[in-house]
Amino acid sequence: MAFFPEFWFTEKYSGTCGFTFKVKQVLYTDKSELQRIDILETFDFGRVMLLDGLIMFTERDEFVYHEMISHLPLFAAEEPKDVLIIGGGDGGTAREVLKHEYLNSITQVEIDKLVVETSKKYTPFVGESLANPKLNLIIGDGIEFVKDKKSLYDIVIVDSTDPFGAAEGLFNVEFYSNVREILKDNGIVVAQAENYYYDKRWMMRSVNNMRKAFGEDKVTIYQASIPTYPSGTWAFSIAWKGDTHPKDSFDKERFEKLNLKLKYYNPEIHKAAFVLPNYAREILG
Ligand code: SAM
Repeated sequence: MAFFPEFWFTEKYSGTCGFTFKVKQVLYTDKSELQRIDILETFDFGRVMLLDGLIMFTERDEFVYHEMISHLPLFAAEEPKDVLIIGGGDGGTAREVLKHEYLNSITQVEIDKLVVETSKKYTPFVGESLANPKLNLIIGDGIEFVKDKKSLYDIVIVDSTDPFGAAEGLFNVEFYSNVREILKDNGIVVAQAENYYYDKRWMMRSVNNMRKAFGEDKVTIYQASIPTYPSGTWAFSIAWKGDTHPKDSFDKERFEKLNLKLKYYNPEIHKAAFVLPNYAREILG
């Protein structure tokens, strides 16, 4: 009888702790010019995409991240028409934004074509949306794309990898200043901002640079429970150009009219996501 040893994957959160699960099968492994891509079939989390050995999403809980990075700014904005997604090559964010059928345009700029192709083939529950004709998918660098453009989008969603390599500049003040310019008058930008439990520096880099670009009182974070991301609590940094804080500008009428079947986001979560524990408030200053 053949003996198959168990295969366990660990994402290290520090030199001394991490998150571990058992893998059924490795479905795909390859390297693009930018990063290594793996698709795993797992016992507990369904299909999992790794980029450079870090979990991008799992089939089981991806809905939390993708709903919260999309619907919260979309329902906070006043009559949004044009949306820009930067990164998000797996397609989960595009899938959620596409649910807002009233939008005029959805543009996505993802730097790595192989992430797009891999997701379409191996994780169609997110990747399928990348073939939607309403999505204008551009393979290119989001940092370059936002340069020298003015007042084009109501919402910019930065669905990036961690601030290394190609994504490093997506956390910089120059990038956020360009995003401010590319936003229309009442525009909103949201970015995945890591976690404040294991290492607050990445989140604060996003927040502080957004503050420099948008102003001290026009930036905050909101959070969501994502079991397979480090610490289980994920932060999103958000900055706005208008006068109203996004927690106070939920469009109830549009929400009820669209009648979306969502698994995480709802009107109460829209407000509650901005309520932070004391130690997170302290970090934010
Ligand atoms: N939810 C995610 C996480 O856990 O970090 C992010 C997912 S999504 C796969 C991140 C995408 O950002 C990747 O496909 C990566 O190629 C893309 N990306 C990184 N730097 C970029 C840049 N400068 N311009 C556009 N896309 C970029």
